[in-house]
Amino acid sequence: MTSSQLAAEFGVTRHAVNNFLRATYGPAEGAQRLLDEQQVAEVRAHFVTVAARRAAAREPRTCVVEGCERPGIGERGWCKTHRERWRRRGALEVGRPGANQLAKTHCPHGHECSPENTLVFPSEPGHRRCFTCRYGRPPEPADSPPAASAD
Ligand SMILES: [Zn+2]
Ligand SMILES: [Zn+2]
Repeated sequence: MTSSQLAAEFGVTRHAVNNFLRATYGPAEGAQRLLDEQQVAEVRAHFVTVAARRAAAREPRTCVVEGCERPGIGERGWCKTHRERWRRRGALEVGRPGANQLAKTHCPHGHECSPENTLVFPSEPGHRRCFTCRYGRPPEPADSPPAASAD
């Protein structure tokens, strides 16, 4: 079995197979590397994984970030926005709440951002947290800030 035969089997270039072989077993001794059974098995396992990953990347799906409804793309499954954010900041969180974050009406888990359900810690001014997510239950009336006096 040669790398060309294996390449044909998976529809990849001989170069790709040779690169994998070189990375795994070191440089070839002759011009044409002859593969033993174990090597053939490893090459197959590798390229089967690659093919599966490619197929998964082609399937339409939504962004893997919770609460994001935009279509996910690429191997990591992020949407364009989240991928860009990661590339620019190395983080998916927006550092400082922007207009779009303040305009959100629900937390990523779908709990309403009502005044009762929103927590702001003095150590993190400007950051709003979901009460229900933090405590695992919705806020009770006793937890709520005093209501504005009705007439
Ligand atoms: Zn997203
Ligand atoms: Zn929540």
